[in-house]
Amino acid sequence: MSPNGLDAKTFFEREGGITYNDFILLPGHIDFTLDKIGLETNLTRNIKIKRPVVSSPMDTVTESRMAISMAMLGGIGIIHYNNSIEEQVKEVRRVKRFENGFITEPVVLSPNHTIRDVDTLKETYGFSGIPITEDGTLNSKLIGIVTKRDIDFEENRTKKLKEVMTTQLVTAPAGISLAEGNRILKESKKGKLPLVDKKGRLVSLMSRTDLLKNEDFPFASKNKDKQLLVGAALSTREDDKERLAELVKAGVDIIVIDSSQGDSVFQINTIKYIKQKYPQLDVVGGNVVTAKQCKSLIDAGVDALRIGMGSGSICITQDTLAVGRAQGSAVYHTAKFSKEYANIPVIADGGIANIGHIVKALSLGASTVMMGGLLAGTSESPGEYFYEGGVRVKKYRGMASHEAMEKGGGKRYLSVEDRIKVAQGVTGTVVDKGSAIHLVQYLMQSLLHSLQELGLRNIQELHNGLYEGTLRFEMRSPSAQTEGAVHNLYSFKEPHLGLLRMGR
Ligand code: GDP
Ligand code: 5GP
Repeated sequence: MSPNGLDAKTFFEREGGITYNDFILLPGHIDFTLDKIGLETNLTRNIKIKRPVVSSPMDTVTESRMAISMAMLGGIGIIHYNNSIEEQVKEVRRVKRFENGFITEPVVLSPNHTIRDVDTLKETYGFSGIPITEDGTLNSKLIGIVTKRDIDFEENRTKKLKEVMTTQLVTAPAGISLAEGNRILKESKKGKLPLVDKKGRLVSLMSRTDLLKNEDFPFASKNKDKQLLVGAALSTREDDKERLAELVKAGVDIIVIDSSQGDSVFQINTIKYIKQKYPQLDVVGGNVVTAKQCKSLIDAGVDALRIGMGSGSICITQDTLAVGRAQGSAVYHTAKFSKEYANIPVIADGGIANIGHIVKALSLGASTVMMGGLLAGTSESPGEYFYEGGVRVKKYRGMASHEAMEKGGGKRYLSVEDRIKVAQGVTGTVVDKGSAIHLVQYLMQSLLHSLQELGLRNIQELHNGLYEGTLRFEMRSPSAQTEGAVHNLYSFKEPHLGLLRMGR
């Protein structure tokens, strides 16, 4: 065995079935500080993002709230398709319309609504600062605002809002910057700042309580019109062509063809159709785990590939169908082939259970990682929190679990027409992880440290090291894995949300 570990080629040709836990990266030489490290990467052939993270198109992971947070942080979210066309399109629109610090879909009432209507909104949503427009809809002329102070002591709750609303308004023109909006809001000493267009129509709203939350996100993934980037999942079925057309109208930036085994004639036809009809739209194909599968989809025209079969935390494909591949080997072999064959980036999808797995996936040639379970249970993931055995949890389920397939999922498994549906995933729960914003910031800070330990300044250098042989790998025996984990303690406090414990 080499004193300095092995290069990737030797390591992965010697042994098959490698998972992230089976190997360790050997340290490099550090001659720079943390602030010199960049995390920019290729999401697809044409789209670069500043942080290599993608949230998975699953109905317990990515809707607009998650996609907005991911894009603000420099990654991207892929909206799931276990819903109607209208629902999926609405989620995409929400991301495209989002402006940091601005409430782009404020709840609005008309002058003929009553104080009771405001009470109901307060109960449902928790806020009571309501702009009043002529016809009670957004984009109609703003004529007043109702706040707590207008209605606090009013005994007659059936009174119309036109009798109690404030009409002396401080407004600002739509299109101003976040900094400018914050300044006006502070100076006005009001609780809300409505933004209006030239004709006085309400466009959005700012809230004083958000002033502290209005952080600047310098890495945000945006298009040239300053809209956040968002992706959407699509199946290979014929009737999803209509879905695709609507998603394109809504401004979707990438389409992820969601299939557990991507090398099919259905997917190849879908890729060709999209590329011919919408040549500007980037398409991610998958899922694949072998070089041969990659070739089929690259020849069909994909702009990126999604790698993984059976490695997801909710996934039972490998046990049920005996088909799939250990994720480390899958990422290494597909990334190498795709780079050499056509310089197509790959997304390592599934099995990212702790921080170290992210750098390992990238070190094997992935340009980004896609996460389901790690992001499930954050406040931005769809679903309600509940308690299980005294612990606050959220539901997390496979898209091919019986439960998700019943709701209309399972489109990725070519099995929905079957009379008997074979589940390839399970339904479970994951612990409350707080905000995805903080979680992903923590993950990215760890990634910077990790690259520094390797003596590498960016993902490009990591990939160069991988293919030139300077990045060194070593097998991690089961006892090395035990040694590398916390051991021999009666109890200990974990640094962040139990992230270390996961994935072991
Ligand atoms: P209010 O004074 O009762 O409206 O409530 P606060 O201003 O204390 O809190 C409102 C919170 O809800 C802020 O964080 C807003 O960004 C958020 N919010 C989200 N959507 C809306 C909306 O449509 N209208 C209002 N007023 N707030 C919203
Ligand atoms: P995780 O990040 O939780 O380890 O894995 C998430 C990935 O698992 C998803 O991005 C998707 O590729 C895959 N996946 C989602 N649902 C299912 C399922 O029901 N069965 C299988 N086999 N894979 C799933």
